[in-house]
Amino acid sequence: MILFKSSSLLVLLLLLTITSLANIPTTNAQCYEHNPLKISDKELVECPLVDDGDDEESLKKRQNTSSNSTQMFQIKLTCGISDRAICAKVNTAFAAAGTIISATLNLKEPVTVNATFIDFCKSMGDCGNSGFLTLGAAPARTIPMQDLDGKQRFYPQALVKQFGYTTHSSYSAYDIVAMFNSVANFWFDGDPPIRTSQSDFLFVIVHELVHGLGFTSSWDDYLNDVPEALTPDLGGTTKGSRRQYQFVEYAFDQYIVVIPQNKNLSIYTDQENVFSKGTGNKYTNIDDFAQGFVDSPQYAVAKQLFNYATTSNSLGFMPRGTKDPNDAIILETSLNPYQQGSSISHVDYSKYTNTSDFLMRYLQDRGVSLQNAVLNGGDYKGGAIGPQLKSVFETLGYATQDNPNPYRPSPPSPNSKTDDSSSSDAPKFNLIYSSLRMQSLLSIIVMFFAWYITRD
Ligand SMILES: [Zn+2]
Repeated sequence: MILFKSSSLLVLLLLLTITSLANIPTTNAQCYEHNPLKISDKELVECPLVDDGDDEESLKKRQNTSSNSTQMFQIKLTCGISDRAICAKVNTAFAAAGTIISATLNLKEPVTVNATFIDFCKSMGDCGNSGFLTLGAAPARTIPMQDLDGKQRFYPQALVKQFGYTTHSSYSAYDIVAMFNSVANFWFDGDPPIRTSQSDFLFVIVHELVHGLGFTSSWDDYLNDVPEALTPDLGGTTKGSRRQYQFVEYAFDQYIVVIPQNKNLSIYTDQENVFSKGTGNKYTNIDDFAQGFVDSPQYAVAKQLFNYATTSNSLGFMPRGTKDPNDAIILETSLNPYQQGSSISHVDYSKYTNTSDFLMRYLQDRGVSLQNAVLNGGDYKGGAIGPQLKSVFETLGYATQDNPNPYRPSPPSPNSKTDDSSSSDAPKFNLIYSSLRMQSLLSIIVMFFAWYITRD
C-alpha cells in the first residue's frame, strides 16, 4: 500500500528567495514560510505589503489572456541523478500534471513549483527504517487573509495570487516546494505496462500539487506525541515584544462541518480560543501555553474533535452554496488510530474509491496508473480532478469555467487586528514558529505531505 502522509523526516536545505516586486512596504505583515526540508523550522518571515504598480484594468487584461492557457504551472526541476532519461520523464510528468490542473482551474496567475528529484539516502542520509520518505510538497508560503466572517486564516500563496490584488503581501519566489525520492519505484508514462509494485509518478504529483494549492486542514494534534486532542495550528500575535498565542485556521478549515449536525468547525476553534483569550493570555512561553491548554476546560473540546476525526462520516467539507450535510464531501475520519497527515486532509477512502473523486484519498493503490484510476472512476470528463474536488477548489477561491467569479477574501488591513484587540497598536498577527518543545510537534504539521511506501 502507498500511503500519503505527513512527515517528520526530512531533508536538505533549499533556500527560498523572496521576490521583491515593485516594493512599497507599507506595513510589517508577517507570513509563514514552510521549509519542506526541515518542516520543524517553519519560519516567520516579513511579507510587507507591496504594490505591483498595475492598475486594475491592465491587471485584468493580463489575467484574461493567461486564464485561457493550458499550462499555468511553471516548474523548476532540479534533477540530482545521473540518469538523464528519467530526469526527462520527471519533467514530462510535471508538465502533464500542470496541464491536468490547468484544464479545470482558470488560473489567472501562473503557479510556480520548485521541484527536486534526488536520492534522499545518498543526498541527505535519509535512508529510512520503517519505509522511506518518497516525497513531500508544501505551499512555500502561507499568507493571512481576512475572510467574510471577520476571521483571519492562512491561505497558500498560489491561491492568494489568483485573487489579483494589486497590493498584497510580498510573495516567496515559489508557490509550492516539492521533493521526490528517486529511489522509489515510480512508473512513468511510456514505460512498459505498470507493474503491481509500481506507483504512477503522475498520480502522485497531481495529488501533491492539490495539497499545495490548498487542500489542507490545519486540524491536528500539536500537543501530544500520541494524538488524542485536535486543535487548529498554533498561531500567535506579537504586541511589542510580548507574544500571545491562539489557534488559527487555514483557508480549507472554514468549510469543515461536523456531520450530521452541520456544525462548523470554526465554532470549535472559537471555543478553544476561549482559553487563548482567557487563562492562556498570560502565557508568554509556548510550553506553558500548551500545558495550560491541556489542563483547561477547553481541552475537552479538543478531545471531542479527536473523536470526530476517528469516527467514520463525522466530518465533511461543505462546498459553497450548499447547506444540506448530505451535500458535504466526506473527509477521512475512518482511520483509527488517528493518522497525522492522513486523517481529515483527505477524502473518505471507501466512499471515493472507484469514483471520479478518487484522487484525494490518503492511499493510492499500486499498479494503477492515473489514467486507469480515471477510467475506474467512470471516465469523468474533467479527468483526475473530479466534480467534488472541483467544487472544493471553487469554494476556496479558484476560478473555473463554471464559476468564473469565485469567493475572494480581503488582504488584512495594514493595522490588521485579531478579533480580540481593539487598541490602535493592534498586535501583528502571525503563526508562531517553533520553540524547543513545539519542534517535534510542528515537525508533523499537516502542511507537509510526504508519501511513504510502507513495507508490506
Ligand atoms: Zn495527501
